[in-house]
Formats: sequence, structure tokens, C-alpha cells
Amino acid sequence: MDLSGKVALVTGGSRGIGREIAIELARHGASVAISYVNNEEKAVEVVKEIQKFSVKGMCIKADVSKEEEVKKLVDAIKDELGTIDILVNNAGINRDTLLIRMNTQEWDQVIDTNLKGTYLCTRLVAKDMIKKRYGKIINIASVAGVAGNYGQANYSASKAGVIGFTKAVAKALASRGINVNAVAPGLIETDMTQALKEEVKETLIKSVPMGRLGSPKDVANLVVFLASDKSDYITGQTINIDGGMIM
Ligand code: NAP
Repeated sequence: MDLSGKVALVTGGSRGIGREIAIELARHGASVAISYVNNEEKAVEVVKEIQKFSVKGMCIKADVSKEEEVKKLVDAIKDELGTIDILVNNAGINRDTLLIRMNTQEWDQVIDTNLKGTYLCTRLVAKDMIKKRYGKIINIASVAGVAGNYGQANYSASKAGVIGFTKAVAKALASRGINVNAVAPGLIETDMTQALKEEVKETLIKSVPMGRLGSPKDVANLVVFLASDKSDYITGQTINIDGGMIM
């Protein structure tokens, strides 16, 4: 899969799945911009990894839930790298708790980052993709958005929203040469799953037919495929990557 000459934006590329996606896109020849919200040091490290593949890399601090910050993010990338051909809406958070204990701030934070953030980035980037009649948009959803998950009403709603958004935008942009797909990871080894209690993790792993957590690289491999011309006839799909958790 050859992505030479392409420019990608990976939101939340400083850690976990986004970090691995950014590095794999660079390995396949794309120049890559990543965004982060807190961890500048980690983001700078990822840029160094990207540049090892002799492509351009840059990182920008931008909260995807804030419209003015997303605008500055997209403008900065266009100034430095010229355009955006591949958008990976990866930035995401969870604030897990039982519904009756959930407060509205926990609801809003998750919906604003995971769903509104995906909308804000996609709307801005799609404008240029429509003019070019080319683009690949990949949204990182979750199996929680497909099947729901205990203690994750806010997170599951945000990810189900991302899946519906993916389908609607895919229909709208298909005739403009733009593919829009979602990826729904199961349990992947990152800071997000590190935070789970050991017994919760063990119970969850029992629900995975492959009997193990996935790696960020597993997800990155699928994203590279969806960013490449090998997936040109695929749009509006949500592909589970979960060791068989959801069938
Ligand atoms: P992670 O390790 O916690 O990393 C989250 C990334 O998102 C970090 O780069 C973080 O930046 C960034 N971020 C958080 N809030 C942001 C905001 N408001 N604006 C911009 N960036 C923000 O998470 P992960 O496990 O890699 O998850 C990545 C994506 O995969 C998320 O959408 C998540 O929901 C989804 N997912 C994960 C799993 C899993 O098992 N891990 C399963 C299904 C889906 P800082 O470093 O600056 O904080």
C-alpha cells in the first residue's frame, strides 16, 4: 500500500491507537500531522518517529471539541503541508460510570470530544476534499457503539453517533470521490484499557474468542488499508477489529 505524496491528519496522535496509526501512515509514505490536547512531549516524540521515514511530520495542540481550535489546526496543516488527503478522527475519551451516577459534565465531555469533535474536523476537512474530488476519512468508533457496553452509556452513545455520522457523510460524499468509513476496535492495549481494574479486564478478555487484547498496530494496519487505494470501493462501512468479540 503506497501513500507517497499524501498528507494525513490523525487527531489524538500523541498516544495509543492514534500514535500507531500516525507512524504506520508515515511508514507507507504519507506526511502526517497529529493533534494532541495535553501531552506535547509525547506528540513531539511521535513526530520524530514519523520523520524517520523521510516524510514530513508536525504536531499541533488542538482540542477537537472546540470549533476555533479545529479551524486553527486545519489552517496550520494547510500552511505547512498544503492540503489534507486522509483524515483519521481518532481523538477520544471515556468517562465510565453507571447511568444513575453519571453527571451531565461526564455526558457532555464524552459526546463533545468523540462525536462533536468528529463532526467539526470532518466538516472543515471535507470542504477541501470536495474541491479536490479526493479524500479518505476514517472514523475510530468502538464495539461499544455497535453493541453497547455496561457503564458506558455516554461512550456507547457517542460511538453509535460516529457510526451513523459515517454512513450519512459517506452517502453525501461518495459522488465526490471521498470514502468515509469507520473502524470499531474491541479491547486494545492502550492507556484507556490500562485504566480498567484487573478483574474487569479479565472478564472482558473472556468475551474475546481470540482470548487476548488487540494491539494499536492491529488497528493501524486496517486504517492504512482504508486510507489506501486498495479500499476504493468501500464506503459507509464500520469494520469491527476485536478478535471476534462482536459477530
Ligand atoms: P488514549 O491512549 O487515551 O489516547 C487518546 C488520544 O486522544 C491522546 O492522543 C489524547 O491526547 C487525545 N485526546 C483526548 N481528548 C482530546 C481532545 N479533546 N482533543 C484532541 N485530542 C484529544 O486512547 P486510545 O485507547 O488510543 O483510543 C483512541 C481512539 O480509539 C478513541 O477514539 C477511543 O475511543 C477508540 N477506542 C479505543 C479502544 C481501546 O480499547 N483502547 C477501543 C475502542 C475504541 P493527549 O495525549 O494530549 O491527552
